Amino acid sequence: MNIILFGPPGAGKGTQAKHLVKKINGFQISTGEMLRDEIKKDTEIGKIIINDMNDGKFVSDEIVNSLIKKILFDPQKKDKLIFDGYPRSINQAKNLSLLLNESNQKIDFIFFLNVNKKTIIERIEKRKIIENRSDDELNTILKRYDTYMETTKPVLDFYSEKANFHEIDGAFEIDEITTKIDTFINV
Ligand code: AMP
Repeated sequence: MNIILFGPPGAGKGTQAKHLVKKINGFQISTGEMLRDEIKKDTEIGKIIINDMNDGKFVSDEIVNSLIKKILFDPQKKDKLIFDGYPRSINQAKNLSLLLNESNQKIDFIFFLNVNKKTIIERIEKRKIIENRSDDELNTILKRYDTYMETTKPVLDFYSEKANFHEIDGAFEIDEITTKIDTFINV
């Protein structure tokens, strides 16, 4: 089973992904985590992306798509993928479709966690205190939200017509959202 968690920054994708990892014995594919790791390890990619990430801008599709490709063909992870933060652009969504076809996989569920801007800002400001992420500053949060509206929201049109697309009100408490997701997965 492969699942996409879709939604603005601060929608709770990471939290729900961790729950799903346990539930389906899967693997969380967080491009944000992978990119932060490249920066931490000071790799060639890390050096290229550090400024854009700290500015709340997207990393290029080329870099993100290359990170994803390896995972889709990993026999241990195949068919147990929980995408958290990918795809985030039409180009990435098309790339994912292509890679899924090539690796003989499909997406079983797309969950769109819908949360408004005010709630996002409140949540990320709280997360900043706990995780101390450099892109969780208020100015950067606002930029990340704008980037989401411009580049990621159009991906919704790409997915929202599909039968396995489910919109979930992300303003609910974590446990309530988990329960809602579970009702689909258990059927
Ligand atoms: P996240 O941890 O998902 O909130 O992502 C943190 C940051 O990583 C984003 O603001 C982007 O700069 C970058 N990033 C993560 N995933 C992607 C992606 N799929 N495409 C482009 N940039 C990404």
